[in-house]
Amino acid sequence: MLRAQKSSFWKMFRVTILLLILIIVAVNAWRDYHQNWQTPVFVALYPVNADQSIVTADYIASLNEQDFAAIAHYLQQQAQQYHQPIQVYFKLGSEVKTLPPKVPDSQSILEIMWWSLRFRYYAWRQQQDIGVRPQLQLFLNYYDMRAHKVLKHSTALQNGRIGVVNLFAHHKQDNQNQIVIAHEMLHAFGATDKYDLSTGQPVYPQGLGDPDQQPLYPQKTAELMAGHIALSATKSKMANSLKDVRINVETAREIGWLK
Ligand SMILES: [Zn+2]
Repeated sequence: MLRAQKSSFWKMFRVTILLLILIIVAVNAWRDYHQNWQTPVFVALYPVNADQSIVTADYIASLNEQDFAAIAHYLQQQAQQYHQPIQVYFKLGSEVKTLPPKVPDSQSILEIMWWSLRFRYYAWRQQQDIGVRPQLQLFLNYYDMRAHKVLKHSTALQNGRIGVVNLFAHHKQDNQNQIVIAHEMLHAFGATDKYDLSTGQPVYPQGLGDPDQQPLYPQKTAELMAGHIALSATKSKMANSLKDVRINVETAREIGWLK
């Protein structure tokens, strides 16, 4: 009798613990998909010397938190047009010495799932005390641009709010780096790409800075989730700085700035 009672107690205990874990996972996932923009948003930035070069090391040593304030300012300014007063703060952590798991080249669902699990574990291991609990952690993989002409695509996960951002380690690239960081950040808050994945060409109308412009081309600005300014229906160029980039209605809706 006693033994039976004991085993049913442990069974209940285990079920309760499992239920609690499930509730925590569900609440976290719900939060990741429903950002409350009324409260301040903190983004942790962790620089990584991705090519282990001296040039990249020097560049990382020269970074300071103020360098990223322009992105916060830009987002706040863009949010204003949707009457969404937001507060965004970028917190620069220390350099992370372990490289993030390599993003798979293939489109295999299993490989991507396996990478995403390893990346979450990595992000959990690498988190630093930056004084607040960030809503997003971005690992900034810097590369010496003399040795790397083209960088692989950056990736950010909404569920888990983590991302790897590939950037050039050169101050003359800082303005374009800011576009890439803002783009990946908004992916983590639910924004989708607004360009054709096979050609890189901004999609009409949602990928254009001003879809109502007459004549339509060449566009003067880019939409952040396209990143490129459409010069014609088939040609585009990367925007130079956030000054040439807008956040339009579809993206605003996806991230919850617009209901
Ligand atoms: Zn993207």
